Amino acid sequence: MTAKQKQLKNQSKNVPGDNQVQQGGGFVNGSIRVVLVVILVAYMLKPYLFDKPQTSAGELQNFTARGKVMGTTWNAIVCATANQLVEINNADQTRSDETIDSCEVLLARVIQRKLDRIDEIASTYRADSEVSKFNASQSTDWFDVSPEMAEIVDIAQKVAKNTNGAFDITVAPLVNLYRFGPNKSPLIALPSDKQIEAIKQNVGFSNLEVRFEPKPGLKKSIPTLTIDLSGVAKGYSVDLAGKELEELGLDSYMLEVGGEIRCRGEKVDADTLERKPWVLGIQTPEVVVNDAASRAPEIYRYVNFNSYDHSSALATSGDYRNYLQVGSFRFSHFIDPRTGKPTEVVNENDSKAERLGSVTVLSKSCDELSCAEADAYATAFFVLGVKKGSEIAEKLGASVLFLARKDDSAKEVSEVFSSAFNSYDSKTLDQFENKDQTEKKQSKK
Ligand code: ADP
Ligand code: MG
Repeated sequence: MTAKQKQLKNQSKNVPGDNQVQQGGGFVNGSIRVVLVVILVAYMLKPYLFDKPQTSAGELQNFTARGKVMGTTWNAIVCATANQLVEINNADQTRSDETIDSCEVLLARVIQRKLDRIDEIASTYRADSEVSKFNASQSTDWFDVSPEMAEIVDIAQKVAKNTNGAFDITVAPLVNLYRFGPNKSPLIALPSDKQIEAIKQNVGFSNLEVRFEPKPGLKKSIPTLTIDLSGVAKGYSVDLAGKELEELGLDSYMLEVGGEIRCRGEKVDADTLERKPWVLGIQTPEVVVNDAASRAPEIYRYVNFNSYDHSSALATSGDYRNYLQVGSFRFSHFIDPRTGKPTEVVNENDSKAERLGSVTVLSKSCDELSCAEADAYATAFFVLGVKKGSEIAEKLGASVLFLARKDDSAKEVSEVFSSAFNSYDSKTLDQFENKDQTEKKQSKK
């Protein structure tokens, strides 16, 4: 082992094992988050932290990296050898000096660069983003955009068509009306139907076109049309950064931005150094009230991914972290573009019927943009609701899980799956723990 490799290896050991990653977030609004927890299958830390077998620079180990983007946080676990990362580090032309970065710093740099690129394109909070410039333009001619922006809009338009407009990025003025966009002035009262109708005149995905040739561009047919990419950009950024890792030869990783996840390959068990598939956890949709925001969320269901030769994605849309309270009304950050209203306006004085709390979409296709699509579909299915959403999910062959709760505490949760969801190896927490117990009993025999 060279001195450089030794240094990398030692530095990497100082980073605590990241067996649990909790996540969430509106794309731009990071203060309130939709949480989704990612758990490695090593069943939390347990006693495994002790007497770990030593790994050499040529052996696989899990490296972690994390950072912030788009008003939320990101987390990654990459299963690689220190040697592999040394090579990537040496080949990285963007390094400003000869300092040797730790494996984690290298990974964070590679991932952050890609994520920042999408923030520069899609942020509605930055006046200089491509989205803000397009929104400010009143021209109905083709407007030049980056290939990435065209690709994001293309996915959004495809999902809009497939969901009868339940997903619609032209919903931007309504998102702002309900204060889920850059306009953060207090909302004193619910908007009137007249106000909503007036704003709806500027909404409708059919008023937007996207092209790639002769050069990437967007075209609005209404001068005042504006777009909001928050419901798809996080997923797209995960795909972009994931593909970057794959291009560098790192094809075993889990990457998550604000609850949207892409994983591929496998990880190594910290104890035995055996390879294990990624297991991702879907959070119980318990409504989070202020001080509970930092509490580790409960997991309702685990999904076991076997993603050896392709990437897999998981995206959850939930109403339990990012919501707004106006008087006794609480509403989610998902706007139904057809009614112009949030999907659910809950009057807290009402008796509580069962309500949709979260929608999770899984994708294990070889589709390169699996996380972007999963992200957008999760929002779309939330808007559609269980009944209509299930119908469309069946028609599309989409893997969708709807979780409804009896009340805010979500002590009682009911599930509705699409048929395709059943092709995944998934278990509720109870089933998962029972299996763990059974395995332990068997191994004792
Ligand atoms: P989640 O992680 O809960 O899915 P996202 O940030 O990914 O949250 O998506 C929700 C965001 O998408 C909203 O904050 C809003 O900006 C935007 N949005 C809301 N309703 C729609 C809709 N019907 N179609 C497209 N985008 C929407
Ligand atoms: Mg989302």
